[in-house]
Amino acid sequence: MTNRDRFLDALHGLHHDERPVFGTGTSIVCQELMERVGARFPEGHTDAEKMAALAMAGHTELGFDVVMPLFSVCHEVASIGCRVDWGSPERMPESGPPIFRTSADICIPSDLLTRPACAVPLAAIGLLKQRLGADAAVCGKVFGPWTQGYHLFGVENFLMGTLDDPDDTRRIVERLLPVTIQFAKAQIEAGADCLLLADHATRDLCSPAAYQSFLQEVHTRLAEAIPCPLILHICGDTSDRMGMIAETGLACFHWDTKTGSAKDVRGLAGERLSLMGGISNGKLLQADPETIRADANTACAAGIDVIGPECAIPLTTPLANLKAVVGRRSR
Ligand SMILES: [Zn+2]
Repeated sequence: MTNRDRFLDALHGLHHDERPVFGTGTSIVCQELMERVGARFPEGHTDAEKMAALAMAGHTELGFDVVMPLFSVCHEVASIGCRVDWGSPERMPESGPPIFRTSADICIPSDLLTRPACAVPLAAIGLLKQRLGADAAVCGKVFGPWTQGYHLFGVENFLMGTLDDPDDTRRIVERLLPVTIQFAKAQIEAGADCLLLADHATRDLCSPAAYQSFLQEVHTRLAEAIPCPLILHICGDTSDRMGMIAETGLACFHWDTKTGSAKDVRGLAGERLSLMGGISNGKLLQADPETIRADANTACAAGIDVIGPECAIPLTTPLANLKAVVGRRSR
């Protein structure tokens, strides 16, 4: 059994042996890892070779069964036309001011996928596939229409719109959905085995009623339209919507430890939805390798299918803590 197959089966809740499966669909890059690999931000977002080198370290340095090269939240929106500051080794990228006000303003460029912000990760996925073979799965990443809306319309304007003009919010979601599907299909063609679908419908920004009204059906449609296993990522406490997520047909959910203990989350997700995560970012930043190792064991015993960090790790995370997820010691 290859690591790639072991990982992909775990996304469907299938496990073949005693060995746990490790990985994450969000960024694993910290400053120590950049130094170790000799590739840094911002080039890690804008240069396919540097991006692939950093992602590859998820397998070669950390021992994960999956690699994922899209470290920021900005690729789609940069290609659509948002100004993006790609950051530095100390700072993650940020998108600039909103560019749209209503659904009627939305204009998706016909060359979306060949613009650098999409073309670079597509090339990096190809390089990773070529270099890794079946040694690790290659995971791509796309953003759902809700998260794209935050960047393109501004978080506050977008969320106000859900109350003031919900019909227009629905039109926005409909018009941005093809961006997610188009970029997803291109990543699969480039070599991605599975995709992280990040749609930041966090409790403080999206009530359970809003999730049900605007997003549950959209996530169900994405699961149907994209021909590979999808891992939904939502930050924060998602206990009130885990049951709805389990009904979407998405393969896996990447959960935040604010939701509860691994055991509780396993109970909330039910039998069918597989789960990724279990290691808190706060602990990765501040605890010691023994604590991280113990939390990985706890997550495994609770039935978490893929064990790893809960979200994009902070850039100052100690590499020794990241390595401790799979039980590697820092040299
Ligand atoms: Zn997150």
